[in-house]
Amino acid sequence: MTATPGPSAGVAAAVIPDETAQIAALHEGLLGWYAVNRRDLPWRQTRDPYRILLSEMMLQQTQVPRVLPRWHAWLAQFPTLAALAAAPTADVLRAWSGLGYNSRAVRLQTIARLVVAEHAGEMPRDVDALLALPGIGDYTARAVACFAYEQDVPVLDTNVRRVLHRVLVGPDAPKPTVSDRQMWALAARAVPAGRGYDWNQALMDFGSSLCTARKPACLVCPLRPICRAAPFIGGALAAQQGARRQAARTNATIAATPFTATNRHYRGQALRVLGAQPNNAGLDLTTLGPLVKPDYTAADRPWLHTLMAALHRDGLVTMRPAPPATPTALRESPTPYQTEETHETNTTRVSLPEG
Ligand code: SF4
Repeated sequence: MTATPGPSAGVAAAVIPDETAQIAALHEGLLGWYAVNRRDLPWRQTRDPYRILLSEMMLQQTQVPRVLPRWHAWLAQFPTLAALAAAPTADVLRAWSGLGYNSRAVRLQTIARLVVAEHAGEMPRDVDALLALPGIGDYTARAVACFAYEQDVPVLDTNVRRVLHRVLVGPDAPKPTVSDRQMWALAARAVPAGRGYDWNQALMDFGSSLCTARKPACLVCPLRPICRAAPFIGGALAAQQGARRQAARTNATIAATPFTATNRHYRGQALRVLGAQPNNAGLDLTTLGPLVKPDYTAADRPWLHTLMAALHRDGLVTMRPAPPATPTALRESPTPYQTEETHETNTTRVSLPEG
């Protein structure tokens, strides 16, 4: 099967000299390394698109060791796409609790319900059909197409991007020298026919173990003889590290904000508290406040309302009465603790979603 380009379809110009020979050398070196060093991960022992999609969603913001037990536990509770689609959203959020970025759980269930309703419960095979599902982007669509359906498509995550850039183009520090569109096109040209599955897994393993972002193991790297970044990457990363340290020193406010004082932390805490309420009975804001923030005072009430309104808009809680539809700046990013909006009533009550 011919490699299907990513979002850069139509960008055909080679961005490196002697590209064909360089890619052929990379095929040999990387697939040889992978044959000996491949990681044995449970989602590599299945081609079930639901299980593949679950692993991809969990791994988006969470490291492999943390995902492993949660992936198994999730599948014990929701063994099929249909089981996930039929489950109450409150149960889905409870099952996700502790993994962070909880909107991923709601997105996953939304996809499951749509696939059951519109695709007879079978995940689409075609990249464009996968892209049409809500919350599935360029990377995830191709990861499902490649890892579930073994299509020879490029799967360009941060690890793959880094390895391809360094070996085929040159140092990616202080910043990449080819655009995102060019990288997708290059990645598509690099997929070896009939080996897309192993190829993409190999790039990911190599990027997460040897050719890491800050400390690539160039001295022991089997790709060193052909890598275009090898002679320069050490110096480039050292200069980048110095610039980062300087920036951190001049941005003391963000550096000094502990995670437990961020909105992301409080969002997770609120979902844990609400998930522990029997029969999803919910809580009023007066009761909820001190359970979310230990030093909570009456002055925090507008902030708490804002936090809950953001969760409501993201589909992670049900708030009654519902907040205005105005988008809020409060999201799950680890921004410093801050206050916005003041709309609320004394009867406001919050629970996990009722669907
Ligand atoms: S030589 Fe260094 S930069 Fe090049 S692929 Fe190996 S680890 Fe990465």
